[in-house]
Amino acid sequence: MMEPILTIVVPCYNEEEVLPETMVKLQQQLEELIADSLVSKQSKLLFVDDGSKDQTWELIYKEGLRNKYVRGLKLARNVGHQNALVAGLHAAKDFSDCVISIDADLQDDIRAIREFVMKFNEGSEIVYGVRKGRETDTFFKRSTAQGFYKMMRKLGVDLVYNHADFRLMSKRALHELERFKEVNLFLRGIVPLLGFHTDVVYYDRLERQAGETKYPLKKMLAFAFDGITSFSVSPIRFVLVIGFVSFLMSIIFGGYFLTLKFLGNTETGWTSLITSIWLIGGLQLIAIGLIGEYIGKIYKETKQRPKYIVDIDTLNLPIPRRHLL
Ligand code: UDP
Ligand code: MG
Repeated sequence: MMEPILTIVVPCYNEEEVLPETMVKLQQQLEELIADSLVSKQSKLLFVDDGSKDQTWELIYKEGLRNKYVRGLKLARNVGHQNALVAGLHAAKDFSDCVISIDADLQDDIRAIREFVMKFNEGSEIVYGVRKGRETDTFFKRSTAQGFYKMMRKLGVDLVYNHADFRLMSKRALHELERFKEVNLFLRGIVPLLGFHTDVVYYDRLERQAGETKYPLKKMLAFAFDGITSFSVSPIRFVLVIGFVSFLMSIIFGGYFLTLKFLGNTETGWTSLITSIWLIGGLQLIAIGLIGEYIGKIYKETKQRPKYIVDIDTLNLPIPRRHLL
């Protein structure tokens, strides 16, 4: 059997602190796999620079000039982790039999890569890296992440528990992935929809080796909210149900207060009146906000804007003159 060509795709946003170490470690790993005849000699590391403001691209580019394993893709501006990853997968698919995505910060155990490849060689089209535990996370991140997975499950979205974007995908799977045209692509939700023969590799997630997280709380919440509203209309349905319930309640209370009025007790209504105004007002605002959220999504999708713009692709020379170092 011919060894498969593997490409490891690494999205990078302001990762100059950790990138040199990441490059060395990934290359070591790749060379071991080549030496053991698990992957082809033509296997590559593809670093996607997601519009970094530091020296990330310079590092990638210089390494690419002298290192046959290193390839670079520079996006024209920052498009976020998911889209940067999509850009890398898209590019890598054309010259690889399988692609592994991994974060630049070495949080995911690179030794798992060997197992990924072995599972691929045994016939899996998609292999998920699943974290054994979440000891390295803060209590807050751990519990919010757990809440997120539980909620998605309840909403009927089939997420792989404790799996981030550390996974292997075959050329075939990547090809099919491209048929999902949505602009707001939430990979963790989409990939399980592909089906195919899948497998799982368990690993320990480590601390970030250097640099800072690019996912502060605000972004994390936005990511979770996007994930939910991109996959499920249950929240909006829930609001509808609440709307019905409060409508029924108001009829019942209305009847009750009217009876009171006919009995001559007119002043008693004020408290309940003012509270229900606030209650209903609040519910309406929530409902309108939710509807707005979905309409916003529809608006974005109908425009079909590209998910990313490539500035420089070191695979497809020539390079614009201003970038010749
Ligand atoms: N990343 C990216 N674009 C962004 C933000 C992050 O390409 O706009 C990359 C980042 O360089 C890293 C990966 O996505 O390789 C995951 O980010 P990070 O480690 O900061 O997230 P965390 O592990 O803290 O959730
Ligand atoms: Mg990280």
